[in-house]
Amino acid sequence: MLAQCRTAAYAQTLHTSPEVTDALPKLVLLGTPKLMQRSPAVNPDDITSLSFQRELETLKQCMIRYGGIGIAGPQIGWYQRVFCFGLFKAAERYPALNPDTLPFQYWINPVVNPANDSRPSWFWEGCLSVPDISGWVERPDKVIVEGYDGEGQWCQLELDGIAARVLQHEYDHLDGVLFPSRVSKPTHLVPNELFKFKETWARDWPTPAARECPKGQLWYAE
Ligand SMILES: [Zn+2]
Repeated sequence: MLAQCRTAAYAQTLHTSPEVTDALPKLVLLGTPKLMQRSPAVNPDDITSLSFQRELETLKQCMIRYGGIGIAGPQIGWYQRVFCFGLFKAAERYPALNPDTLPFQYWINPVVNPANDSRPSWFWEGCLSVPDISGWVERPDKVIVEGYDGEGQWCQLELDGIAARVLQHEYDHLDGVLFPSRVSKPTHLVPNELFKFKETWARDWPTPAARECPKGQLWYAE
């Protein structure tokens, strides 16, 4: 039995207290060398400090302001092994994404591994650091993550479905990996503009399954 992390409820109460008074940092985009490098670990003793808590709050505010469902420290120039993801209300365009399927959570110095019974799944991934492009990316649908939460408590959690997908995407950022490196072929990258004309795509472009799978939903081979 895996220990459960406290997620949305505590995060909302704890991390609304430190005020973010400065203007929010800008997004760091694809092509910035430091975004493509491995970031160093956080000193766990720092997590409960006021300055670190303010950084966490800034990270969360950036995710909300820039309209992401997850964000990693390096994407706002905070080059440490920290990210958050999750929703506080349902995503307007993607009904499968809501606070139940994607509860808000922070992860610090995480270690992520596929669960023994995970299955391959596909998903149209996007990224705040890669504007206007989506990629058809395969990843395991269930993972086990260990790491510190936003209060500095070490915890272990099994995640599946959309939450496992978003977590793996954010975890990649800590190693400087962006989703265009995760597509199996360059043709599996598609400008977002083209999704409006999906019915006109060739049946097998970029793959038959990708054409039929709505954004925001996982697709399985069987
Ligand atoms: Zn990203």
